[in-house]
Amino acid sequence: MPSEIPPVDPGFGWRWDNSYARLPEGFHSRVDPTAVSTPGWGLFNRPLAESLGIQAESLDRHDHAHYFTGNRLFEGSEPIAQAYAGHQFGNLARLGDGRAILLGEHLDPSGRRWDVQLKGPGLTPYSRGGDGRAALGPMLREYLISEAMHALGIPTTRSLAVALTGEPVFRETTLPGAVLTRIAASHIRVGTFELFSALGDVQALKTVAAYTLLRHFPDRSGEPKPGKALLEAVIERQSALVAQWMRVGFVHGVLNTDNVAVSGETIDYGPCAFMDAYDPATVFSSIDRQGRYAFGNQPKITSWNLARFAEALLPILDDHESTAIEVAQTCLESFPARFRRHWLAAYRGKLGLLTEEDGDATLIEELLAWMHSTQADFTQTFRTLRPTDLGQSESTVPNLNADQQSVAHSESTPSDPKFLDWHRRWTERLARQGLPLARVLECMHQHNPVIIPRNHAVQAALDSASQSNDWSAFHALLAALQSPYQKAGAPDSLRNPPPPGTPRCRTFCGT
Ligand code: AMP
Ligand code: MG
Repeated sequence: MPSEIPPVDPGFGWRWDNSYARLPEGFHSRVDPTAVSTPGWGLFNRPLAESLGIQAESLDRHDHAHYFTGNRLFEGSEPIAQAYAGHQFGNLARLGDGRAILLGEHLDPSGRRWDVQLKGPGLTPYSRGGDGRAALGPMLREYLISEAMHALGIPTTRSLAVALTGEPVFRETTLPGAVLTRIAASHIRVGTFELFSALGDVQALKTVAAYTLLRHFPDRSGEPKPGKALLEAVIERQSALVAQWMRVGFVHGVLNTDNVAVSGETIDYGPCAFMDAYDPATVFSSIDRQGRYAFGNQPKITSWNLARFAEALLPILDDHESTAIEVAQTCLESFPARFRRHWLAAYRGKLGLLTEEDGDATLIEELLAWMHSTQADFTQTFRTLRPTDLGQSESTVPNLNADQQSVAHSESTPSDPKFLDWHRRWTERLARQGLPLARVLECMHQHNPVIIPRNHAVQAALDSASQSNDWSAFHALLAALQSPYQKAGAPDSLRNPPPPGTPRCRTFCGT
């Protein structure tokens, strides 16, 4: 970490301080992006740039495209590819940034540190058989969904820019190439620790653990048992994160350990998608044939990934192996309760429950079971739930804003007996907490988005941008996803589930 505040570069306002590049050999390889022939303008995230303290106005689009494809380097950046390993669908592999280059770390005006990474800038020493490149469609998917996740209030890496390389990439078909600029709290992964563990490099493990604690959990970095402190902190962040995914119906799609950021941010948007009809078995990814990373499996697989993290940390948990194993097990055993706490808080919020009762989990699970059996739309079911009567006359309920009033009066309640029975018990539960309807609806509207990036809308937007160079649908969807909890603004066509009978779109890794 920095000893003094680095200078601001005069062109953009980047303040580079590249602490990861200062870590020892073995953590990374120095590599420059590969120049492309005709860089082109794609997308630039102005609000994000502003929050980072970056001045983009001084640049014309042509310059932009050169910098954000990696053709030109920002002064002060020190491009590296990071080394890591990872369990991919259960098997450990030696990986590393095969198609990503970390330009460096930027300190924003409040002093927060951000990785600035190009995704798709050409070959690195870790490219193995790949081409180091990315296709436009998948980079637009990452941009759209990461920004949607951010607007939903879920920790995530961000997308600053997409630039076009002007060169084709060859997948099953020939596709336009692009480079995404990703902003992240860091790119330290569970797989980063697995690499050093697999190499038996205890010194490197100690180094990366100390570095990670200082960077992400500074209040725990002075503890006498840094390995345990780190393990606990990461388990807590991951349990909170996966509960948030479960709140909004997000399916990550490739929860390999190299795609688990220890910062607790959602990272690596490959075949990810949001669920329409509620079904825990929902899978979108074309390569996830066993449903390993299905919606409902995400807590379990996160727990599995954390077990791999704990294993990697064993050499630094204690000098005695048996004690180290005990420490790891005790920490890992805390995951279910931690996840349950976050999940309950999220789902209580979705049902407007501001107090706690023992029966709440059952009430939530019964609604989910009904939704599953009727293939109810996940997002719309929660958003249109409305208690019938909390013992208060509606005209005396204060502070219903226009959005809440329109929900209160326009949306209908399903009429099947199972649902009605559940609805009666939910209303009774709400009445017992004794809070005004306006407060209940406010809470529900903060936890239940009105719009999510539905896969059919995402796919249509990506296809017309990347295949027909028509960006209107992409920009309309991106704009609508900026305020996901507000009813006004988002057109029905983007909010509604796909028409009944529409086959579920498959998603692809894009590699
Ligand atoms: P992912 O499934 O995107 O998380 O990628 C898994 C691993 O494959 C990472 O080490 C990537 O850097 C690498 N990889 C993915 N796509 C490519 C590519 N086109 N060229 C080189 N390496 C790649
Ligand atoms: Mg990855």
